[in-house]
Amino acid sequence: MDENNKILVVEDEERIRRLLKMYLEREGYIVEEADDGYRGLELAIEEEYTLIILDLMLPGQDGIVVCKGIREKKATPIIMLTAKGEEANRIEGFEVGADDYIVKPFSPREVVLRVKALLRRSSSIPASNIEKVTKDILEFQHILIENDAHRVLAGGIEVGLTPKEYELLHFLATSPNKVFDREQLLKEVWKYEFFGDLRTVDTHVKRLREKLNKVSKDAAKMIVTVWGVGYKFEVADE
Ligand code: CA
Repeated sequence: MDENNKILVVEDEERIRRLLKMYLEREGYIVEEADDGYRGLELAIEEEYTLIILDLMLPGQDGIVVCKGIREKKATPIIMLTAKGEEANRIEGFEVGADDYIVKPFSPREVVLRVKALLRRSSSIPASNIEKVTKDILEFQHILIENDAHRVLAGGIEVGLTPKEYELLHFLATSPNKVFDREQLLKEVWKYEFFGDLRTVDTHVKRLREKLNKVSKDAAKMIVTVWGVGYKFEVADE
């Protein structure tokens, strides 16, 4: 069985769980289910999943608490399910590390497409693509970003980033030394069409720096805060 094909669905409504399971299995995924937040968090930590679909409104502990708990230990891609009119929760979801969200009611086909899109953007690459010659590489003195594989090496050591942390780093590194304000980053990386919470950007920069710092202090220093403006990926002049 392909270990990289397992999806966890955390949702208390049985009807929605069954529907998602049916559609995802049809696409060849193995689906495991949890019907409350405690079980969801437990499975997410103990098992290895390629992606997690996490409902926001759950009995016990809600999706925000579960997402936070997962992010303390793991970088597994997370899609949140939210109801209409829960913009505030959606922002909170991004803040605690969710990578995408889907608004209920949704069509199962949409979920399948979003799952595939997020997996394409995240680090789990299907075996068939590994042989492909990687050309899309950003190389700097302390950081190497392989965009095809979504792999980041800092000081030669691989760093496990969530999809959003990766996208943030990749976006900044694509335009070295250019300063982006937080509104721009929200729009480009999180695709906010409405006024989002700027703290989401700060939280992710902080996490990104911490992760880089663990393996390479020089790499972490490349993400520079420009006070009163925003952030940039700083590359020293040759
Ligand atoms: Ca629910």
